[in-house]
Amino acid sequence: MSDLLTQDEYEAIARDLTLPTTAFVNGRFSAAKGGKTFETVNPATGATIAEIAACEAEDVDLAVTKAREAFEQGVWSRMHPVERKHALIRLVKLIKRNRYELAVMESVESGKPIHDCATIDLPETQHCLEWHAEATDKLYDQVTPSGDDALGLVVREPMGVVGCVVPWNFPLMMVAWKIGPALAAGNSVVVKPAEQTSMTALRLAELALEAGIPAGVLNVVPGMGETAGQALGRHPGVDMISFTGSTEVGRMFLKYSAESNLKKIVLECGGKNPCVVLDDAENLDAVAEHVAYSVFWNMGQNCSSNSRLIVHKKIKDELLSKVLAKARDWRTGYPLDPSNNLGAIVSREQFDKIVHYIDLGKKEGALVALGGEPIENGGGLYIAPTVFDGVTPEMTIARDEIFGPVLSVMTVGSVDEAVDLANDTQYGLQASVFTSNVKRAHRVARAIQAGTVTVNCYGEGDMTTPFGGYKLSGFGGRDNSLMAHDQYCETKTIWIDLSDDPVDQAVD
Ligand code: NAD
Repeated sequence: MSDLLTQDEYEAIARDLTLPTTAFVNGRFSAAKGGKTFETVNPATGATIAEIAACEAEDVDLAVTKAREAFEQGVWSRMHPVERKHALIRLVKLIKRNRYELAVMESVESGKPIHDCATIDLPETQHCLEWHAEATDKLYDQVTPSGDDALGLVVREPMGVVGCVVPWNFPLMMVAWKIGPALAAGNSVVVKPAEQTSMTALRLAELALEAGIPAGVLNVVPGMGETAGQALGRHPGVDMISFTGSTEVGRMFLKYSAESNLKKIVLECGGKNPCVVLDDAENLDAVAEHVAYSVFWNMGQNCSSNSRLIVHKKIKDELLSKVLAKARDWRTGYPLDPSNNLGAIVSREQFDKIVHYIDLGKKEGALVALGGEPIENGGGLYIAPTVFDGVTPEMTIARDEIFGPVLSVMTVGSVDEAVDLANDTQYGLQASVFTSNVKRAHRVARAIQAGTVTVNCYGEGDMTTPFGGYKLSGFGGRDNSLMAHDQYCETKTIWIDLSDDPVDQAVD
């Protein structure tokens, strides 16, 4: 909080921004080879901020080639782990030094409230990179229990060239979640940011070079998903893709891999997350605070948003009135005003999608308890906190990921019914349960099919805990924690014969 500036100061920074608009490959900014560009728009005003290089297959190919060259030369992959750690920590310091500029750049391109960019996204980005940097020289490989006649070593080696394809909802933080462990493990990386939000990833790559991460190790190719994203997914020189985005596009990366070089694929996808509040939950004021935060934070454009409130009928009315009171405190408006909690919706397409779901909720018979009306103001597209009561499990708003500030309230009469309803979804990313009974807490947490279950709070854990999904919410791995580090490595067995009699050893 103390790090916040005034709206006037943020607007002054916005006016003075130097915008990175071209690809960053092999340590240099360069236009797309085909010369094409696309507009990036400020969702709060509708104004074009800049024309960004629209990279295509030949640009991706160059970035992968340079990443491979850097990897083979060993300038990063074989750099001593202590030196890699120091370079990554220098990057963290540069991010901190440039945090106001990065926060404003993120806000004007995505519509996110500056309050969140400054107090969540920037500190979390630094923390993530620092955490993985610190792990670089503290991870040991294994010696296997293989007897006196052999020495079995299990060693981690970097994968090679890793492609990171990320969404627009946390543009900088999602890049950090990927490149932190990927670079710490010694890989070369090519990032494809979402087309709505390219600039902070480009600036980050520039800062990485300044921090001493060698040219070619971190490259950024902005562009469309179908062109730049697909080219990366299909490239035979890419060893792994780490993707965050929709399940629909995640599936495509599995196909790209199957049809090219069987590159490793890790997917973090969507969610329709339940918040289960049992009848013995304590302190409903605090519960209401968590419920509101979980669904309205980042305008609900959050894969771990608890967009389904599953509440016991005995306490439903009391809890709902408290949630509505909290939700009314969430101010929606101009993103560079630090007193606003919700900013602009990232794009017309996303705005129309959320409005469509709100209309469907009304048509299918859910009751609007709050909000429900889109706001178009000063060229910006806004949706204030919206709460639907009386939602039933078959309604579309109870089933589809809306990715907007829309809460669906559903009522149950028992713990079993709550668990069944929580699991009645194709997703399984995150869930929260509120109860004062410790046995119930454990039982429900184990029964819910989700990668993260929080008890008596909303959250995603922290950098020490793996984050990812069951069912259609994920595939192949986890972000965060040392599990993330491991997934950017190949595992190699080295078997050394120590026996006196080589024939005996061979027969074994
Ligand atoms: P998206 O799937 O449309 O786009 C994600 C990325 O994929 C973008 O960079 C995009 O350009 C690229 N892409 C799009 N089409 C492509 C194609 N045909 N081939 C290759 N690449 C392509 O997702 P989005 O709209 O940017 O983000 C919203 C989604 O992301 C939601 O479903 C949300 O739940 C999910 N998400 C998940 C997590 C998580 O950790 N599980 C975190 C944030 C967002």
